[in-house]
Amino acid sequence: MAADGQRSLQKAGPRRSQSLPSISSLSVACLSRLLLRLSSPTPVGTHTLFSNSLTMHASPLLLALAALSSLSAVLATPTSFEGVAHIPRRNEAPVYKTCQKRNTVALTFDDGPWKYENALLNELDQAGAKASFFVNGNNYGCIYDHAKSLRRAFNDGHLVGSHGWEHQDFTQLSRKQMHSELARNERAFQKILGVKPRYFRPPYGNLNNDVLEVLNERGYRGVFLWNKDTKDADGAGADEGKRVYDNIMNAAPRSAMVLNHETIPGTVHRVMPYALPGLNHAGLRLVTAAECSGHGSDPSNWYERVGGREERNDSWNC
Ligand SMILES: [Zn+2]
Repeated sequence: MAADGQRSLQKAGPRRSQSLPSISSLSVACLSRLLLRLSSPTPVGTHTLFSNSLTMHASPLLLALAALSSLSAVLATPTSFEGVAHIPRRNEAPVYKTCQKRNTVALTFDDGPWKYENALLNELDQAGAKASFFVNGNNYGCIYDHAKSLRRAFNDGHLVGSHGWEHQDFTQLSRKQMHSELARNERAFQKILGVKPRYFRPPYGNLNNDVLEVLNERGYRGVFLWNKDTKDADGAGADEGKRVYDNIMNAAPRSAMVLNHETIPGTVHRVMPYALPGLNHAGLRLVTAAECSGHGSDPSNWYERVGGREERNDSWNC
């Protein structure tokens, strides 16, 4: 995996809930925005909301009720892409290159799930570390063939995010192809874990506005790049990986988001047994990319719960 495409960082405040809002959870700000839209002289989006005469003469309460009614109509209207029933907002999927919290390190592992995952999970467990796995559906292996270790990573409290279905460079895809890449992986997440991912790492770190807009449309909450690269997938070897971690330890408490690949045996069997105790000894907290970027430490907020978790069946194929 190439280490190109490190993009500018967009700062983000706390993200609001991604699930469709109930009426009781609608914020004052949300209502205000809807009221503003109601007073617009032209229809907004695909929905003609209300006429100006209504806006001029209706009471605030009536307007609020009308706004709620209109919002329900908008939310009930899916787009033509599978799994999309979401109103995008700008910057809903901010891009992070490193942790926002001092004294934290996010260890990230791409391109799995693969056959070294269980060994890696054992090491992380022993070190009391939480990590982030950005998984493909069909890259080194088929995701359905590694459901057991993926479930373990999920249940152990690591972040499991999407890395696309086939490790395609999203900046070379049409929007329709991007939706397909994301939807196929989301289906696998749903079948194996009963959730949809809310976080994404683009293959090759390549992003553009189209990719971000598609991620917004699908309800993703964050995109994680990296600011430290062990270059393990580029053939750098374990010694280079250890040197990268030495630099991170020496820079403590400066935070870091580190790119690794769980598909490289040297990373799992040589670099991690060196790095994990060293980072702990340096006093750095090893947490998920979601936690270290201000998205909270509660794993239930890192996914959209959709149910439908299955045991292996004929639909589990790549
Ligand atoms: Zn990758």
